Amino acid sequence: MFAAYTALLICCIAVFIGATAYGFPENVRITFASSITALLMIFPVYKLFTDQKASTLQKVIAALYSLTILFLIFRAVAALTTDLDMNLASTSIFNTWLFLLLYIVMLAGSTGFILLDKEKQDLELLKAASFDGLTNILNRKTFISRSKELISLCLRKQEKISFLLIDIDDFKKINDKYGHFVGDAVLQDFADTLKKQLRDYDLFGRYGGEEFAILLPGADEKAVQEVAERLRSTIENSSVDAGSNIKYTISVGFFSILPGEETDIDMLYKLCDQALYLAKSQGKNCCRSAAEI
Ligand code: GH3
Ligand code: MG
Ligand code: MG
Repeated sequence: MFAAYTALLICCIAVFIGATAYGFPENVRITFASSITALLMIFPVYKLFTDQKASTLQKVIAALYSLTILFLIFRAVAALTTDLDMNLASTSIFNTWLFLLLYIVMLAGSTGFILLDKEKQDLELLKAASFDGLTNILNRKTFISRSKELISLCLRKQEKISFLLIDIDDFKKINDKYGHFVGDAVLQDFADTLKKQLRDYDLFGRYGGEEFAILLPGADEKAVQEVAERLRSTIENSSVDAGSNIKYTISVGFFSILPGEETDIDMLYKLCDQALYLAKSQGKNCCRSAAEI
């Protein structure tokens, strides 16, 4: 896109130089230069205005450039239809306004772009601080802080909420047999596979090592049991292509609760950790409810 824009700009400059050399009248050249500049600005401004994710800063910059586009269109039309002196070297009132506007746009534009860059860097920092670098899902800290919001929401709506604690079985053996690099690939595959199985508003995070947590708002005992079993069998029936085809399994501890004021993620974690321990002690590759304990 950037290359196409640069090419278009170079073409326009070449045509403009050609038109000057060929002796086109000044007002035609002004109309051409102004229209082309306005046209080149329309697409990025349109993209900024229609981008749902655009920040206020981006919208302000877009508004400023829209003003410039309007001014350029006026200049293009006025050059053909009026006898206003628009030669850039003249000291006409039109040029005073033009240079004032250009000055403001340049100042605001360059400040805006520095701020935009900072905004982008802040977003990247926030992402790095919130997501796990290997699996690209929420890290433990963010999972816990977002889980508080979800639990409060379910408390207000008087809806059940379910927690699942998942641990990859015999993961140490995978590392020992195939190496740490393949172990990492298994963790990534696991996260990708599970992400596809969950709804947008479910919370999925890496609790540490090869232990993962899921929070399902609105899911009761029956629903969480179904989800746990579905996830377990999906992993059992999949394989990771990392040089050789690696099969692995998971164990799941889960619990569903109608949240009260005292419900928190630590309590859910402890209950599900016991259920997970039960699943491990009963042969792994299975799901157990904390309600069984
Ligand atoms: P169990 O079935 O009882 O869960 O046995 P396990 O071998 O899965 O559990 P254990 O806790 O003994 O071993 C977990 C291993 O996970 C040990 C650790 O080196 C490995 N591990 C933790 N984080 C990572 C990681 O980011 N990448 C890789 N490759 N390995 C990791
Ligand atoms: Mg394990
Ligand atoms: Mg573990």
